[in-house]
Amino acid sequence: MKKTFYLLPALLAFNFASVNAQQKMKHEDTELYTPVPPVVTPGKSCGDAPSDAIILFDGKNLDQWVSANDTTKPADWVIKKGLLTVNKKAGSIQTKQLFMDYQIHVEWREPKDIEGSDQGRGNSGLFLASTGKGDDGYEMQILDNYNNKTYTNGQAGSIYKQNAPLVNPNRPPGEWQTYDVVWTAPRFNDDGSLKSPARVTAFFNGLLVQNNFELKGPTLYIGHPTYENAVHGPYPIKIQAHGDKSKPISFRNIWVRPL
Ligand code: MG
Repeated sequence: MKKTFYLLPALLAFNFASVNAQQKMKHEDTELYTPVPPVVTPGKSCGDAPSDAIILFDGKNLDQWVSANDTTKPADWVIKKGLLTVNKKAGSIQTKQLFMDYQIHVEWREPKDIEGSDQGRGNSGLFLASTGKGDDGYEMQILDNYNNKTYTNGQAGSIYKQNAPLVNPNRPPGEWQTYDVVWTAPRFNDDGSLKSPARVTAFFNGLLVQNNFELKGPTLYIGHPTYENAVHGPYPIKIQAHGDKSKPISFRNIWVRPL
């Protein structure tokens, strides 16, 4: 009885202190610059959809997608000559269908004449589970890092601000790049506590960049990720319309296989 009496205020104080510390954090506090993933030149790869895949985009229409900001509205990105290009004004888009565990294939291309630097150079993102509007969810970063320095845990192939890619296999802007990702959604107990974290295995241009990485929670721009208040089941997949000033990036050949 005595122990509990003393323990409770201590726990409350600790919780308050940790929330306070999080609020005082700056975005730089979670940006790492070393070690830098080595640059590797990828081989030629192929990503044609297998017979059991759900086709999310094959060059024709966005029937499988809606606006992420208003899911009653269609996904208003540009389709031209079979390519899908981000419309920054329309915001991010997400799938109509919800997914738990799955394998996904996405092809993306930075404009050949891309400009900007750091996080402001062809920024987009593959949200493996979109937990809400804006940038809510679990982001695998899309960015031009062929020759563009940024924090390692924010470069293309990273789980944003949680884990840098194992290598840097970026192709030059103007060339198509592939993501092949296996997503395992987090599981929660009835009381809301975490049963098992989300996991990601990912290949970037055919090279392993995330090896069964356990996520610490939804990805955050500021602060440390946590599963607190993150209890969820299946969610849509989202592609980010980032607010940077560089030219918008394009996508093609997107398919998913629920597991
Ligand atoms: Mg991004």
